[in-house]
Amino acid sequence: MFKVEPVRGLRDVLPPESDFLRVITKKFVDVVRAYGYSEVIPPTIELFELFAAKSGPEISKSMYVFRDKGGREVCLRPELTASVVRMYIKSMLAEPKPVKLFYVGNAFRYEEPQLGRYREFYQMGVELIGDGSLYSDLELFLILRDYYRSLGLTEYSIKVNDVGILRGLFTTWGVSEDVQDLILHYMDKKMYNEAVEVLSKYGNADLNLFNEITNVRTEVPEEILEVSKSLRLPSGVEGIVRRLYEITSLMKSLNVGKFVIDLSFARGLAYYTGLIFEVTVPNLNISIGGGGRYDNLVELYGGPPTPSTGFALGVERTYLALKGLGLTDNLISDEKVMLISLVNDYSYVDRVASTLRDAGYITTVRYVSKGKLSDLVGFASKKGFKYVVLIGEKELIQSKVTVKNLITRWQGELNLSELPQSLGEQ
Ligand code: AMP
Repeated sequence: MFKVEPVRGLRDVLPPESDFLRVITKKFVDVVRAYGYSEVIPPTIELFELFAAKSGPEISKSMYVFRDKGGREVCLRPELTASVVRMYIKSMLAEPKPVKLFYVGNAFRYEEPQLGRYREFYQMGVELIGDGSLYSDLELFLILRDYYRSLGLTEYSIKVNDVGILRGLFTTWGVSEDVQDLILHYMDKKMYNEAVEVLSKYGNADLNLFNEITNVRTEVPEEILEVSKSLRLPSGVEGIVRRLYEITSLMKSLNVGKFVIDLSFARGLAYYTGLIFEVTVPNLNISIGGGGRYDNLVELYGGPPTPSTGFALGVERTYLALKGLGLTDNLISDEKVMLISLVNDYSYVDRVASTLRDAGYITTVRYVSKGKLSDLVGFASKKGFKYVVLIGEKELIQSKVTVKNLITRWQGELNLSELPQSLGEQ
């Protein structure tokens, strides 16, 4: 006997979850396409070096790395942004900017499995490459707003910060970029003391200022301007605070959803240079999405300076969020029809089934003997079918069907020529 369990941390995804994941992804694709994004499909396996540079310690540690038969050091991608940027440099440098791309794909991280944390999961995301404007950052939030609206999800909250503020201060204090990455990693892991310990080795570092800044948490954009003034931040850093103020003010006026500005907030990926954000919902203590600005990544991989921004949403976690909030019922509105034939006229039955499917009804065909009819109607009722459509000798001869609405209990005959309009009325 083979072991039938999947490998630890990996999952078999079955209906209805698989159906929900598909709808969640489809709605995402509909929204981003409406914003003018085009799909890219990167390979699942990349050279390890692509991710080694800037994924951050947490993700680097959890990568599936191995040698292929040609001796190359490769990995299963832990996320897709690095691949999209690589593809951009290889094939899209000459395109007019901004280049607007989206993806849906699996990613792999060898993490400790728990609810909503899997070793293989799906991400759907956008990358807006070659645009440093305020609007480009804002557009990401508008996409999120429209996407979550399409799912009926209103109770989400966005945490925002700009890593440029802390990076700017660290640079003034003489902290190298690698050490900045390490401190931000500690901040991401809420290891505040470790962050302070590293900083305290720098004579120029103003630990009081660091403490004051990282204590700022507010839903009111104006407050960060006041903090910036009262703390007398260096002018470069002050400019970044002002940008964060502008973007969050716009988030407010364009109703992108509830948000909180948290100046201590950092993200695991080390390539972020500016605005960063994460989306959470009540009852799920892990983020359902996140993203930010990565102005140096294209250059790091050998391309020209190219300001860019993007986000990735977790498909499974979006489902968990909707499920936790009782929102999955509205997600799949398709109506199901059980088409039962008591006669073996495959051609007539196929005509009826095709008419129903063309009209958007999910139609299951079963040929049964009269004796099994009531069992099958009972099964259809239990499985959430809305209609039973019956074809017997009489219906076949008269070009009709008998319809039973399993919810209202209405029953009657309809002419084939009236289907499917009349069905919808019953
Ligand atoms: P990140 O690339 O870490 O910013 O992750 C972006 C999104 O991917 C997160 O907000 C999650 O929704 C999802 N995600 C990340 N890691 C996992 C995981 N191990 N299992 C399931 N979803 C994940």
